Amino acid sequence: MNAQEQPVESTSPLTDALAQLASAVKHLGISPGVHQMLAQPRRELMVSVPLRRDDGSIAVYSGYRVQHNFSRGPAKGGLRYSPSVDIDEVRALAMWMTWKCALVDVPYGGAKGGVAFDPRDHSDSELERVTRRYTAEILPIIGPDVDIPAPDMGTNEQTMAWIMDTYSSSQGHTVPGVVTGKPISLGGSLGRASATSRGVSHIALMALASRGIDPTNASAAVQGFGKVGRDAARFLAEAGVAVKAISDVDGAIYAAGGISITALSAHVDATGSVVGFDGAEELEPADLLTADVDVLVPAATEGVITGDNAHDIRASIVVEGANGPTTNEADMILHERGVLVVPDILANAGGVVVSYFEWVQANQAYQWRESEVNERLEERMTRAWHSVIEYAGAHKLTYRQAATALSVKRVVEAHELRGLYP
Ligand code: NAD
Repeated sequence: MNAQEQPVESTSPLTDALAQLASAVKHLGISPGVHQMLAQPRRELMVSVPLRRDDGSIAVYSGYRVQHNFSRGPAKGGLRYSPSVDIDEVRALAMWMTWKCALVDVPYGGAKGGVAFDPRDHSDSELERVTRRYTAEILPIIGPDVDIPAPDMGTNEQTMAWIMDTYSSSQGHTVPGVVTGKPISLGGSLGRASATSRGVSHIALMALASRGIDPTNASAAVQGFGKVGRDAARFLAEAGVAVKAISDVDGAIYAAGGISITALSAHVDATGSVVGFDGAEELEPADLLTADVDVLVPAATEGVITGDNAHDIRASIVVEGANGPTTNEADMILHERGVLVVPDILANAGGVVVSYFEWVQANQAYQWRESEVNERLEERMTRAWHSVIEYAGAHKLTYRQAATALSVKRVVEAHELRGLYP
């Protein structure tokens, strides 16, 4: 494998994830049998989630939990509520979680869950019933030593509180370690809510430094203004970066002089969308990705940077806040064009790092100071960043190839030390 390798045609997050694995397997000289084990999830559960709606009618949604790998520890991964959720998306996201946990060296394997529906179309009480029923259905395969869900697209700390309560009720005692990303008052970690964004911004600043760009002369565009995008924009702005373009599912906005993230946050809290913010002009959503900025942070969903728009990306650095935002085809185009792409499994790993800290705190019934959490997070992100750039340099790989190879190597090492049962 080398950075010039021809991309496998991208058709879905799963084909991209499998092609990335195949590339790492080739580079590392891993045997076909082990490759096959890594390409296939260890366990997957598909459930039907019936919901009694507020008007008395019944809707039935499809739910999934995929546990990709347990070689390094219990499975760990988010829970997504989105109409786009399907089994292949969840499989890809679960595999990326395995690599991410290995890359930042937390003792977990990877998992992911999802329910295919739009949470924006539901009341809080309907969301609670969907969450509790989904939890009840996947209960046999989750637990603090088995598989630990966390928030992802469309879910939040309230969702985690309902999961924890449903799981705890089934056990007859409170089990805070069954989820991370919980409210602080239920044993959540200080610093968890903004951990992914803090990591994204920390990595973006290191990437800018590696290209000799001072943050106070730099600009950024952020796609997505949710749990990851909003605070990533805030931390970048606090570091002096002019965040010129921001989008959400409803539209995009642009301000040549930079957008006030505080004012925009107040607008989004009041209206639910970035659209209509009077401190910026409207922008075609597709133009956000090709905005004339130094750093592009896709922080929404998969497959947004593709073979169709990769030639038009003007940012010199892409920091993947979202999972899988760049298709393999786009990845190679960006590489050929000299654009530095910091892969998701490195860029957005801050969330799982602090989830791990939360799990440790929950298991010890002890709370760390926020400064302690942030310091340890920064230290892990910095260590992972240096390990990736050193490996990429030594083996002439892209950062994604290097990050995937390093992760796969660690997972295979754990697998080989444990041996194959029976
Ligand atoms: P979220 O639901 O809190 O926010 C998603 C945001 O993206 C919203 O602003 C939504 O309007 C916007 N969006 C959705 N589709 C869009 C589109 N097509 N164009 C523009 N904007 C769009 O979700 P989140 O937790 O912020 O997750 C975002 C991404 O980050 C996902 O890929 C997720 O897997 C990844 N991620 C999240 C975490 C975490 O801790 N929450 C950790 C690692 C990775």
